Amino acid sequence: MTKLIFATNNQHKVDEIQSAIGNTIEVISLKQAGIDIDIPEPYDTLEENASAKSKTIHQLTATNCFSEDTGLETEALNGEPGVKSARYAGDDKSFEKNINKLLSELTGINNRNARFRTVISLILDDKEYLFEGICEGEILQIRKGNKGFGYDPVFVPSGSEKSFAEMTMEEKNTFSHRKKAVDKMIAFLKQLK
Ligand code: IMP
Repeated sequence: MTKLIFATNNQHKVDEIQSAIGNTIEVISLKQAGIDIDIPEPYDTLEENASAKSKTIHQLTATNCFSEDTGLETEALNGEPGVKSARYAGDDKSFEKNINKLLSELTGINNRNARFRTVISLILDDKEYLFEGICEGEILQIRKGNKGFGYDPVFVPSGSEKSFAEMTMEEKNTFSHRKKAVDKMIAFLKQLK
C-alpha cells in the first residue's frame, strides 16, 4: 500500500481524508511521523501555501507526502476570507471568532453565496502535482449543528438542507471540497500503477 505523510496538524483533516481515501493509501499524520512543527502559511494563494507545506515536510523526511490548504471564498466579500480563513479574526486562530467576524461582515447582505476551495500539493518521487476541489454553497445567518470544524456550522453546501456541522463525516464527504481534491489525487495515483 502507498504510504503518504499528510502535512497537517489538524486531526479533523486527517480523519476526513483517511475516511475519504479508504484503505488504498495509508495516511500518516505529522504526529504519527514524529514531526512536531507548525508549518507557516505565509503566502497570498492556497497553491503557494500548499506547496510550501509539502516541500517543508519533504525536505525534512525525504518521503512522499502531501499537504492541503483550504479557503472559504465568499462572493459578496470579494472572495474573503479566502487564503486568510484560518486567521480571519486574528492570530489566535479561533473558529468561534472567525465565524463571528464572517457573520458580522455579511450582516444585511442578501448574497450569501460562498465556496470552499481546497488545493492539494502532492510530492511524489521528488515531483510536485497540484489537485483542486471546490464545494459551492451558502453562508447561514446563524450557526446550525455542532460537528466538524472551522466554518462548518454556517456553511450549507448546494443540494443540502443541512449545514456541514449537522452532517456525519461520510455525509460531508459526499459534498466536500477536500474529498473532491483527494479523489483527483487518488485517481492520479491509481493511473500510475
Ligand atoms: P487551512 O489553512 O487549510 O488549515 O484552513 C483554513 C481555515 O479554513 C481553517 O482554519 C478552517 O477555519 C477553515 N476550513 C478549512 N477546511 C474547512 C472545512 O472543511 N470546513 C470548515 N472550515 C474549514
